[in-house]
Order: sequence, then structure tokens, then C-alpha cells
Amino acid sequence: MNKSPRANRLHIGIFGKRNIGKSSLINTLTNQSVSLVSDIKGTTTDPVYKAMELLPIGPVVFIDTAGIDDAGELGNLRIKKTLNILEKTDMAIILLDFKTNNLHYEKELIDKFKKKNIPFIGVVNKIDIEDGDIEGLKEELNMDIFKISTKTKIGIEELKEKLITLSKYIEEENFIIKDKIQKNDVIIQVTPIDKAAPKGRLILPQVQTIREVLDANAINIVVQDTELEETIKLFGDKIKMVITDSQVFGNIKDIVPREILLTSYSILFARYKGELLEFVRGIKAIRNLKDKDNILISEACTHHKQKGDIGRDKIPRFLEEISEKELNFNWSSGNSIAEDISNYNMVVHCGACMINRKEMLSRIQRAKEKNIPIINYGIFLAYKHGILERALEIFPEIKKELY
Ligand code: SF4
Repeated sequence: MNKSPRANRLHIGIFGKRNIGKSSLINTLTNQSVSLVSDIKGTTTDPVYKAMELLPIGPVVFIDTAGIDDAGELGNLRIKKTLNILEKTDMAIILLDFKTNNLHYEKELIDKFKKKNIPFIGVVNKIDIEDGDIEGLKEELNMDIFKISTKTKIGIEELKEKLITLSKYIEEENFIIKDKIQKNDVIIQVTPIDKAAPKGRLILPQVQTIREVLDANAINIVVQDTELEETIKLFGDKIKMVITDSQVFGNIKDIVPREILLTSYSILFARYKGELLEFVRGIKAIRNLKDKDNILISEACTHHKQKGDIGRDKIPRFLEEISEKELNFNWSSGNSIAEDISNYNMVVHCGACMINRKEMLSRIQRAKEKNIPIINYGIFLAYKHGILERALEIFPEIKKELY
């Protein structure tokens, strides 16, 4: 049950002042001792993640955060980390207690939830120690609040129910391909098994796409590029769409008749993980680049860099070739797109497989707010190899943005 990668889980952040019971709550919700619990204020420093299955939502990850009222120089750094968590939080729990007489921190946090469209609920913990009326708190914070005890587990099942209800308010469901196909459509997926393919298994985007085709009650045919021609002969005009690994797009595009839709996993995942329209607009902006423009290459994790690395080597080289400009490159990797992006003329982002959609959308939003074009590796490589236009045919409303 804990096999879903973290990036594919609904992220539920637990926020509140120090020593209010955030770590106890995450331990109780997951039924495991995953966060260090003590009476000493500020025991949780870095955010702690714990995955579980919360049916019927499915895989979720709870995030235990440092107190929002932390103090001192280190405390400020911890608060910054806590606030960074908002970028990836799909929904939030804010912990309160009856003794709270200054709700300044909570009000600031609630403002941030509202600005970022994060559904949230308030929870008063430790009612085994002190129970009382929460109407005043509800009124002052203008939010839904209810009472629990992580010690006696009173209210915990109700809290889970509440989270399930709240998850229905999260932004519209987004799909890899399900919304573009129908029952009985024949979909061919081309997954070359070359040296780069992991031994004995498919990669996650392929597995997820197969699953969505099944969810739509359509018909999956999975082949290597070497068997595609024969498969097309077998199924002919019954085929609705071919989805391929981008690496072999160039080899197969002439094999797939024009009347069959052809796209790539990278295009589908650019939409699933981010904002396809924004990336396509970003592609158009390449022609406006000038000599000495600053380009930020942003990667969401610090993976081991090898010779010929896509972000360090290929993307800069290809971008200079296509724009015919001499560009300045900077790189950022990990938790944030970069502290300050205002001096950049373009952001090129990786495929974001290690972060959730919420976080990727926050990154896109930051670029949009500064009017900085943003593209991603998959879209850019499709453009570079001359396949973007055809690969976008399944999204005609987005394709027209190319011109
Ligand atoms: S695409 Fe995935 S592995 Fe590559 S840099 Fe981005 S997050 Fe890391």
C-alpha cells in the first residue's frame, strides 16, 4: 500500500504552533510512531512525511511541520521551511487549543490557505486534558473546527471522515488521457525496451497511462516500436490513438497514418503535472530571446548528474541552437524553483516526477506572476525534434496557441 510514489499522493499538511500536538496527531492518524513527540517546544525541525492509504481518497501523505511560532534565527529558518510546504499542500489541518489567546499566527496561516486555494479545517486537540466551548474560536477564525484527543483517540475517525469530505473540494480532477478517450477505443502504447529501460518492469508514466486507459474501458495494446507497423496492419482503422515514448517519435511518425492521433507520454505528463497551455506559450517565447538573456534551468530533485546530462548539457545546447542566441544559464535544484526569479528571461523546468502537481503549479504561478515564460523539458524536446505540432493534435485548443 505504500508503493505509490510520494509525488502521486494527496499531500495533507499539519500546521500549528509549537507543542500543540502536530506530531502526536500524525502518529495517531497513521497509527505509527513516525514523528518524535516530546513536551519540549520545537521538537519537529524539518518537515516529516508519512504515507498511508486513506480510503476512499487513496494514497495520501501527511506532512508534520515545525511550529509557526518558532523563535530565533534557526526558528525563522524552520518557519520558512514550514511555509514552503504550502507550495505542495493539497489540504491542511490547523491545530489549535483552548488556551490560545493570540491567534495572530493562525490568522496569517489561514490567509495563506485561502490565497493558495487550499481547503483546510481546524482541530482542537488534547480534549482529554481540557475540554470546552469552541464556538468563540470558530467565530473568531471563521472556520470549521472540531475537537479531538490524540491520546484517547476521541474524534480521530470523525477527523478522517472530514478529510475525505474536504478532499472533494480540491481542484478539478486532472487526467493523463482518460478525458480524451471512450469505451472500446483502441489505444496503442509504444514502449521501447532499450538499454535505458529498467530491467523487468515498465516506468511509472507508462504504468499510469495503461491504468487510465483501463479506467476508461478502452482497449490497451502495448508494443515496442519494432512491432508497431505489424500492429497497425492488424488493427487498421480501429485504432484511435498511438501514445509513444518521445525517443522513438521520430522513427514511428511516418508509420502511423495521419488519421490516427499520435502523441507522447511527455506531452501527456506536461499537462497532467503542470499547465500545458503555459508551456506551449513559453515555446513561442523562444523566438524573442536575445543574446545574454538569463535562463534558469530548474530541476525538482538533486539527482546524480552524468556526462551529457539533460539539464546541464543538452537543454542549454539545444536552446542556444534553436534561438541562435548566446545565453546565460543558471541552475536550481530541489525544494524551490529559486529564491528570486525576477532577473530571468525564461525558466526551463524538468518533468517534475518527484513533486506533486500542486507544487508544480505553484512554480508555474511564480513565473506567470513575473511574466517570465516557462517551458518544460518534454515540451521543449518535442519542439526541438519537430514533433510538437503533431503531438498536440489531441489538444486542438492548446495547439492553436503555437501560431
Ligand atoms: S524529472 Fe524527476 S528525476 Fe528528473 S530532475 Fe525532475 S524531479 Fe528529478
